Amino acid sequence: MKSANSFALPKPKTSGVALPANDAIPTDLLIGESWREGSNKQRIPVLNPANGEVITTIADATLEDGMAAVDAAEKAAPGWAATPPRQRAEILRKCYEKMIANADWLAHLISLEMGKALPDSKGEVLYAAEFFRWYSEETPRIIGELQTSPSGQNRIVVEYQPIGISLLITPWNFPAAMATRKIAPALGAGCTVILKPAIETPLTAFAVAQIMLDAGVPPGVVNVITPKDPGPVCAAIMHDPRVRKMSFTGSTGVGRALLRTAADTVLNCSMELGGNAPFLVFDDANIDEAVEGAMIAKMRNGGQACTATNRFYVQKGVLAEFTEKFTAKMKALKLGDGTDPDTQLGPVITEKQATKIAGLVEGAVKEGAKILLGGKRPDSKGYFYPATVLTDVPPSATILKDEIFGPVAPIIAFETEEEAIRMANDTHYGLAAYLYSKDLKKGLKIAEKLEYGMVGINRGLVSDTAAPFGGVKQSGLGREGSHHGLIEFTECKYIAVTW
Ligand code: NAD
Repeated sequence: MKSANSFALPKPKTSGVALPANDAIPTDLLIGESWREGSNKQRIPVLNPANGEVITTIADATLEDGMAAVDAAEKAAPGWAATPPRQRAEILRKCYEKMIANADWLAHLISLEMGKALPDSKGEVLYAAEFFRWYSEETPRIIGELQTSPSGQNRIVVEYQPIGISLLITPWNFPAAMATRKIAPALGAGCTVILKPAIETPLTAFAVAQIMLDAGVPPGVVNVITPKDPGPVCAAIMHDPRVRKMSFTGSTGVGRALLRTAADTVLNCSMELGGNAPFLVFDDANIDEAVEGAMIAKMRNGGQACTATNRFYVQKGVLAEFTEKFTAKMKALKLGDGTDPDTQLGPVITEKQATKIAGLVEGAVKEGAKILLGGKRPDSKGYFYPATVLTDVPPSATILKDEIFGPVAPIIAFETEEEAIRMANDTHYGLAAYLYSKDLKKGLKIAEKLEYGMVGINRGLVSDTAAPFGGVKQSGLGREGSHHGLIEFTECKYIAVTW
């Protein structure tokens, strides 16, 4: 099955990277068994954040296309749910293998449309593929329960059935991983899906969908639509009684609006929303390790991660040493086009985002912060913002409340453990937090007091396919990854049996 419109990936600047097998990435909508143009025949430009130029165009999905995707997902649903788990697992395993085999050009594609540096993109592809492998292993092990009722009169049978047609809405910052983190468990559970990727990075989603078709995913099991205006199309899909699940990753603001829409049909929702991660460095920390961890927690994806550190709280005794060593590492980063092999920090996603970051830094300076590094956009094309370190940031500064989503590190001093915990928890977000201390007992005690879904102790990375990823407070509902991620795509059915 071929797309009428497609995009040929330019030859990567890194030598030895094989291009996609059929040399082209589909740019139309995937509905049922065909790639097709949107019913309005409109095209949407996809921009390269490194220079603002149009890379290619993609199809615009209308309400009619959204409904066609629901029809296709409905048609494929009974067959896919009845496919033996082992067979579904083997298809997911093939998706993993194909994604790994195509990892290098997929990484180039991500760097091209999303902007991040190639090592970050390659890391994302491997992480994304891992969800196919993990859920290929979980699928044959979907749990059930059997017990005798307390009265002894009957048995209680509990099964986890596929929840049904699922709408998956994903952001631009991890265009491959946020898609596979939803698609793999949904398919493993026996659901058919409609993926609505972010309009900024649709090519990766189309490429992953094509890989899945090549791996043997039957037509209609995965559908991909890209409406220019996602609100009405997604609302119509969510209001359709055939649709039973909406899984969203994105900002808290959009998440709130989608939850309101979901209320109309009491639609089951999983929400992975924004974050405002604190990073606590205590006097007894190994500072070199804390700096390494800080670089990962802050700069992976150029700071454009929901788990990215937004605020560094450093105890007074190690403030000078941490700040000096961390700033030196930040200063050494090479800013440039993400597809250049020697780039370590790419552009941010849009001009709007670069302007927002600049505004937050200017605001922080007005509120009393000092710029130790960066803080000024380079005079070049593209949506660049340099690695920036702010010190003397007052605890009440706006930049500590808003998701920065860029390469800016505000550092705040603290004196006592209680003060650090209070400041870390002073946010309506609750996704990820990090802390560094050589005293593990103290670290675990503090981790339990941090109001976050995930805490990294002496590490700057918490994402793991085998772990439950998710937030508390306004950072989300539900978990992705691990066996929890698959349960989110099931409905718990209890059957009372007398035998
Ligand atoms: P966003 O909320 O603007 O968009 C996310 C997705 O929702 C996109 O596909 C977008 O097109 C779509 N969307 C926007 N308005 C919509 C509407 N009215 N109806 C239906 N769909 C709509 O977020 P973004 O800018 O793409 O991504 C950045 C945000 O995502 C950050 O807040 C980040 O923290 C969050 N994020 C969270 C996680 C997590 O796991 N918790 C992971 C990655 C990103």
